[in-house]
Amino acid sequence: MTRELEGKTALVTGGTSGIGRDTAILFAKAGAKVVVAGRREVEGNQTVELVRAAGGEALFVKTDVSKAADVENLVKKTVEKFGRLDVAFNNAGIEGKTAPIISQSEDDWDRVISINLKGVWLCLKYEIRQMLKQGGGGAIVNMASVLGLSGLAGAATYSASKHGVIGLTKVAALENARNRIRVNAVCPAVIETAMGERAFGAPEVKKYAIGLHPLGRLGKPTEIAEAVLWMCSERASFMTGQPLILDGGYLAGPNPPG
Ligand code: NAD
Repeated sequence: MTRELEGKTALVTGGTSGIGRDTAILFAKAGAKVVVAGRREVEGNQTVELVRAAGGEALFVKTDVSKAADVENLVKKTVEKFGRLDVAFNNAGIEGKTAPIISQSEDDWDRVISINLKGVWLCLKYEIRQMLKQGGGGAIVNMASVLGLSGLAGAATYSASKHGVIGLTKVAALENARNRIRVNAVCPAVIETAMGERAFGAPEVKKYAIGLHPLGRLGKPTEIAEAVLWMCSERASFMTGQPLILDGGYLAGPNPPG
């Protein structure tokens, strides 16, 4: 594969599993030194081992993205170890509880918003500060969702958080375009990960979920990782402030039954 991130340092939050883990490995294969951030130490170190097995170099930094001190420390440790920060994938997120707004708890709202939305805001803040310190330049991708562009009954907090991520992406892109820092978002539909399994794993729910995708299947984490790598590479050099939809046709319109 092309070493399009050769000489660059890339950071991935929520790199302990799923889409984040696969992206960390792909970034390394593309030549980047990778910093894996997440709350779970064992899984984080497993990702580091997988990166090394793929011939790359990686560091795990235990991080809760909803805490400012943790995110500030993450960027500090990145620079201490690899000297700079060029690429970031702000991917960490949770699905929250499925319930109509009238029965949702304030605790669940606060938890989802603090990780999915405040977490991305904190990452942008400290990552962009570092990129500016280096003289500008860089590429950031924020993890949104098709639920950042549409609704799903029962998923109000999640959908609100992901709509917010797209708003943050546009503002960060505008504020930093002249600093040559590109900021985009990625919007997957249902992907086969631990989260996809928790939300849509039950057999009848899975059948329904597959039916939402005109391609007739769920997505794979590597299919998202490939697009994120492209967005972070020079091949996407004229793209900023955009949500990129990877959804097997989910948002194109309703599918006929059968
Ligand atoms: P996942 O559960 O495997 O990955 C989520 C990761 O985020 C985990 O590693 C988790 O430990 C980490 N995380 C959660 N809270 C954190 C916190 N406070 N600080 C640091 N790390 C934290 O599932 P995934 O599907 O790979 O999810 C990755 C992202 O993709 C999420 O933001 C999710 O909302 C988004 N997404 C997933 C799907 C899907 O169907 N799987 C679809 C669209 C968007």
